Amino acid sequence: MTGNRGQATWDYVIVGAGSAGSVLAERLSRDPRHKVLLVEAGGPDTSPLIHMPKGIVKLVQSPAHIWAYQVEQPRTPGSNIPEVWIRGKGMGGSSSINGMIWSRGEPEDYDIWGRDHGCTGWNGESMTAAFKAIEDHALGQSDTRGAGGAVRITPGTQRYPLAESMIAAGRQMGFAETDDLNSMVGDRVGYYSHNIRKGRRDSGAQAFVKKAKKRANFRVMTHTLVRRVVIEQGRVTGIELVDKDGARWIERVGGEVIVCAGTMESPQVLERSGIGDGAVLREVGIETAVDSPDVGNRMREHLSYALAFRLTRNVGINRKFMGLGLVGEVLRYYLTRTGAMAYGPFEVGAFCNAAHPDGRTDLQVYMGGYVFALSDDNHPVSLGVIDPKPGLSIYGQLLRPTSEGSVHVRTAEAGDNPSIIPNWLSTEYDRDAAIKSVRLMRKIAAQPALADVMGEELQPGAAVESDEAILDNFRRNATSGLHGTGTCRMGADERAVVDASLRVRGVTGLRVADCSVMPDLITGNTNAPAMAVGWRAADIILAENKAVAA
Ligand SMILES: Cc1cc2nc3c(=O)[nH]c(=O)nc-3n(C[C@H](O)[C@H](O)[C@H](O)COP(=O)(O)OP(=O)(O)OC[C@H]3O[C@@H](n4cnc5c(N)ncnc54)[C@H](O)[C@@H]3O)c2cc1C
Repeated sequence: MTGNRGQATWDYVIVGAGSAGSVLAERLSRDPRHKVLLVEAGGPDTSPLIHMPKGIVKLVQSPAHIWAYQVEQPRTPGSNIPEVWIRGKGMGGSSSINGMIWSRGEPEDYDIWGRDHGCTGWNGESMTAAFKAIEDHALGQSDTRGAGGAVRITPGTQRYPLAESMIAAGRQMGFAETDDLNSMVGDRVGYYSHNIRKGRRDSGAQAFVKKAKKRANFRVMTHTLVRRVVIEQGRVTGIELVDKDGARWIERVGGEVIVCAGTMESPQVLERSGIGDGAVLREVGIETAVDSPDVGNRMREHLSYALAFRLTRNVGINRKFMGLGLVGEVLRYYLTRTGAMAYGPFEVGAFCNAAHPDGRTDLQVYMGGYVFALSDDNHPVSLGVIDPKPGLSIYGQLLRPTSEGSVHVRTAEAGDNPSIIPNWLSTEYDRDAAIKSVRLMRKIAAQPALADVMGEELQPGAAVESDEAILDNFRRNATSGLHGTGTCRMGADERAVVDASLRVRGVTGLRVADCSVMPDLITGNTNAPAMAVGWRAADIILAENKAVAA
């Protein structure tokens, strides 16, 4: 659709073209009677770095493609190591800059949403149906996999002897080996599957928005920030937008606004619109329209920590990322769309139980045949700098931290850095899980399958042995898993921000659909779950509207 600013009245306005927003945009614009507007803060996904999977190492440092949030709370009292959290900005959102690991979580995650949080209709079965509808899995249709959907899922293609040894080490730990880590629960190891189509990233923008863009009833505005939704007499009637030159205007909304701005931004859109904790809003001079005390609170996040090992022989893949090796891989990529550039950052994955008393999966492991360069204090220098010497990385991600944090606006303007308080490791359970996870990852590294190549432990190093020393090192070096949830929590209780139909409590014509609504953590990465939330949101909205029309 074309037209001047503010001239149309939109049936649906979707805020944010990320994982969830992309799916919604495509689904809601299928009916030509619906006028659909998708607003995205960042730009189009034109950079070749987005489409080449290994481009991630540059994208995560590119201000044009990310939101980079300064975390104000130090990791550990007195620590001056800055913590920066990132999210994708631009068409596709985080799905355009992420590691492309296709991980669905476990069905029990979603059963908990329905059972413990009162989110009627959300459970393992309904989310599995959504995943299957979205997937075009190269391993074909099964009870747990979909075929013919919009997102191409490619099983591990980057196989080499050291990666096979990593899998063998997992087997020696007693983990079940599988060719599809999403097809089972319990301790398991195998190659990661990725949302990659013929060597290109299959982001939300590519898999969904591209189709919608051909429709006359659909319009995308890029480089445009949603400052707030306009609420009149308890109903949303418009959105206030700001372009990159600072010009502001209002688009009118006849139907509804669906906020899909992600865990960091969705609560801020609500707060700038006067929906939130009255005390937080007053502090920044925003008038309260709806007192909703949990907006921006109850944030839960995975916590990641890396072990790095030197290899005694050059059996890793570090040489593919430097000098002539890199030139060769880039050439190979552009000629054949294969090789190291056509793959995500980690080859091998494992899911296992490290500390959770009920035996559920609480640790995700990522293994790769290289290490990032470390600084003097063993902190990774940058995600973009690979150590030239042979190495092996084992990343662990705590999947069930119980510490809760918050994200809140500091000003009434869109795009300003929010206040972020993670409260990392503030519970006994989380501290215990951190220590046990490091010991478990060391055990993987010590398996016979890796013995003939395994050298010195570089990070944290053999001297870090006592529980206290491990916890101290973990605190200094662990960082966000970038899988945050809960800041616009869905639930049946009074404090929940949205109900089970994703409607924002206290106002009409407004929903949230993205990772922020997830009332609990996911047992894995969050791109596929965010897309499935977008898919289910479309089901819910379209069913409601059909009922109204009937
Ligand atoms: C570096 C990185 C690596 C990751 N790796 C993986 C992985 O390998 N596998 C996996 O499954 N998950 C991964 N994740 C997590 C996953 O990508 C995200 O959790 C998921 O994409 C979030 O989806 P979303 O729809 O909630 O939000 P997003 O995809 O982040 O989308 C939000 C969109 O809203 C836009 N927006 C925000 N505010 C406004 C506003 N005011 N006005 C207009 N637009 C706005 C943003 O620019 C963005 O495009 C990774 C994340 C990161 C950051």
